[in-house]
Amino acid sequence: MNPMVLQRHEKRSVYDNVIYQFHKAADMMGLDPDIRKVLESTHREIVVHFPARMDDGRIKIFTGYRVQHNDALGPFKGGLRFHPNVDIDEVRALATWMTWKSAIAEIPFGGAKGGIQIDPSKHSQAELERITRRFTYSLRDVIGPEYDIPAPDVNTNSKIMAWIADTYLSMIPAQEHQRSLHVVTGKPVEMGGSLGRDKATGQGLAYVVEEWAKDAKFSLDKATFLVQGFGNVGSWSARLLAAHGAELIAAEDVTGAVMNRDGIDPMELTRHVQVNGGVGGYPKSTPIDHETFLRTKADILIPAALEGQITEETAPILNVRLVAEGANGPTDPEGDEILQARGIEVIPDVLCNAGGVIVSYFEWLQNKRSESWDLEEVDTRLKKKMQTAYHKVRETASRYAFNTDWRTAAYIVALSKLEKVYKERGIFP
Ligand code: NAD
Repeated sequence: MNPMVLQRHEKRSVYDNVIYQFHKAADMMGLDPDIRKVLESTHREIVVHFPARMDDGRIKIFTGYRVQHNDALGPFKGGLRFHPNVDIDEVRALATWMTWKSAIAEIPFGGAKGGIQIDPSKHSQAELERITRRFTYSLRDVIGPEYDIPAPDVNTNSKIMAWIADTYLSMIPAQEHQRSLHVVTGKPVEMGGSLGRDKATGQGLAYVVEEWAKDAKFSLDKATFLVQGFGNVGSWSARLLAAHGAELIAAEDVTGAVMNRDGIDPMELTRHVQVNGGVGGYPKSTPIDHETFLRTKADILIPAALEGQITEETAPILNVRLVAEGANGPTDPEGDEILQARGIEVIPDVLCNAGGVIVSYFEWLQNKRSESWDLEEVDTRLKKKMQTAYHKVRETASRYAFNTDWRTAAYIVALSKLEKVYKERGIFP
């Protein structure tokens, strides 16, 4: 298939979208054809079928994945997702995005991703712990503190990272424990996690939206915004934008969507989600359906749930001026074209949500050096990295003036860096 010719939407996978975006940027910058071949494919794909004991005593078999896309810039790095839709194709796409993201953020990591095809809401904590530990055991030869370092993603959190770290450390010689804690990031602070990691992706998003607002001469004070997905990324983005005076007016997650034109307090909504498991039923709001949520007029939409939300069906009905992508892959290529034609700006995922992997890198460094940085130091360093990445993408976009959307510009930043590295080191043998 000519990757530049998009297949019909229903036949296409999220990984096809990544490859399409990749070739679009590679064509525009004139990427070396040999390096194009290397970056187009993943390095290693691991599929494991592993058993875990359920609370009723029976054994169930689960399928888990780890895809390592590229390690030219440093160890493989990327989150673990627990979701029923996880499959090899989605993990490939997410792993590839991680390579671009680390390159754009200028951190010495490559790209990887993994996950288990599972609906965690159907399992007790004890079952989830056994499943996580057995999955970690299955990946014992694949992950490592200087080789491939997992982190949280959808439906995984610091507790799950703690189980992974403990399981991994239990499988290696005692003498190596203290120097292997950085096998996973996003750990609880008490066991070597970094201050500020929990909010890092939302914080990074807030920093780039601030930069965008300065450029657009737009005041965030009283700006209105919508958030899709009110988990780690969505809820932190909402809380941190609210600190600038911006008003959350609608939020959506798996439990439904809620709206209040006079503003929703993101902190109160976060507490409601913690108690009730989702935004549905939030008292100081009106329930709305998915389409009404998408049509709601606001300044900014923050997709912070899953892929494929902004498409040829939904892009035409959005009523915002900026899409700040907290999620990975929320906009597909048709969605991108429609947003561009409608003059809706997009801060692409590989830039906008890089705060998570940046603070994961800080956690990794702190573990290696036996240090613990205060929150101010983490935030100051994160802000600098996000601002640098933002301006690099902006400058690249302006260099390709008439043709380039910010996603393609962000890819060009990443691909240029990787091209230089491959040209210097060559390809073995
Ligand atoms: P999370 O599990 O904490 O939250 C996911 C949220 O999405 C939940 O509120 C869930 O209800 C909602 N959701 C799921 N399916 C939905 C649907 N069909 N419609 C509406 N809402 C839906 O996950 P997270 O860590 O916040 O990740 C969200 C996104 O951000 C993912 O794309 C993830 O890859 C990306 N991301 C996460 C991080 C991180 O540090 N956690 C970093 C970079 C990017």
